Amino acid sequence: MSHSIIYIQSFPRSGSTVFANVLSSAINAPHIGEIDKLWIKKLDDHHKCGCGDSILECKHWNALLKRITNSNGKPLKDLVNARYYEELHTSRVKFESNTISYKYISNKESDRIKEVYVELFRSLEADRIIDSSKSFSLYNFLREESFVEIKGILIIRDIRGVLNSRLHKTFSRNKYNLNPISTFIHAIKDIIDWNIFYLKAYKRRNEYLIVKYEEFSKRPNYVLEKISHYLGMNYRINETNSFTLPANHTFWGNRNRIGATAISIKEDFKWKSKLPLLYKITAIIISFPVMMLYAKLQDDGRI
Ligand SMILES: [Zn+2]
Repeated sequence: MSHSIIYIQSFPRSGSTVFANVLSSAINAPHIGEIDKLWIKKLDDHHKCGCGDSILECKHWNALLKRITNSNGKPLKDLVNARYYEELHTSRVKFESNTISYKYISNKESDRIKEVYVELFRSLEADRIIDSSKSFSLYNFLREESFVEIKGILIIRDIRGVLNSRLHKTFSRNKYNLNPISTFIHAIKDIIDWNIFYLKAYKRRNEYLIVKYEEFSKRPNYVLEKISHYLGMNYRINETNSFTLPANHTFWGNRNRIGATAISIKEDFKWKSKLPLLYKITAIIISFPVMMLYAKLQDDGRI
């Protein structure tokens, strides 16, 4: 049987982690997390694996990545000893999340990226893996290299829900000072980024199955059945909205939401009561054209 990557794309804070874990449980395919971060970010102790360990110390990732060779054909350093994963970051691979095209990928680098996926299929003993990397460019790279089958799923979540979640995260971590003007400016930047992301995605809408986050949270079984159909699988409908999520080693996982646990999917409209009116109005004004485009897809039965 050929191997396939179920590649999930979404704007950050769109519920993709929960979605990918539920999908993993429903179709019995491992969720590897946001593997694009392997090439985009520098890893440190704060970056967790789904098992709760730091990625640098997780045995699963250490064992797997040690088998991958670097661009000079030498084995990569042990993550624990290296602390920072230098070899990956001296690479000129550019996989930015909002960029469609990827640049500067030599044949060697391309082989190394493929090697990571091949090792994943092998070590997880899976024919299908769920990759929740958000990067468009990695997705396009995988499609064009066509060494495995790629099935794209795009999650679209109402910008007001995204914004509420992002503001909540910002406030709870106190990342910025809570100056209302700078917070609002950050929100406008988020709204514009959301629009750019979905305009780019809209242009390539025939390449994915598009899932509305709100639909998934309302009727998860209906959405999972639709996805199974798209993947050419049979899905036996669960009578409830509860799912038992398997423990996993999701790369860049949020340990609070991951692990062997039962969860119940509920609709999330906290933004209706929590998001300040000014943010709601600004989000609607800026996002109106994109919302119309996606509403059209919905009318056509595409979402
Ligand atoms: Zn782990």
